[in-house]
Amino acid sequence: MEQQETECVWCRQPLAADAEFCQYCDRAQRVEAGRTIDSDERYLIAETRSGQYGLWDLWTSGEPIFDSADLDRVFNIRDRLRDGSPTDSHSARHYGALFVIAAIVIVAYIAFHAFRYGSCIAQPGIFAWPSACV
Ligand SMILES: [Zn+2]
Repeated sequence: MEQQETECVWCRQPLAADAEFCQYCDRAQRVEAGRTIDSDERYLIAETRSGQYGLWDLWTSGEPIFDSADLDRVFNIRDRLRDGSPTDSHSARHYGALFVIAAIVIVAYIAFHAFRYGSCIAQPGIFAWPSACV
């Protein structure tokens, strides 16, 4: 079955149609925002549908995390969030990716080991070093 594809609304990379976050830029996809006022890699400030100003954290949700009729307040909160969040769910997701890569390397090593010593009478242990084929 072919997966439906679309593209990221932010960076235009190809994306599964049901993806909530872009795998390239990590930003939320289903954001119902009006005119964009300011945006960076993570935070979006835009008009909301109710005519106020909204602040979105694109790394956590497509819903605004704050909204107000006072645009200065929205900017203030965005600047405070920018300064005070060195660790967040974004870096946790990157650790998840590292874990997946490590798992792939281990599986590839086991497959390589089985291939290389598959014709041996006595196979060396998977972590035996130096290993010999008898
Ligand atoms: Zn993207």
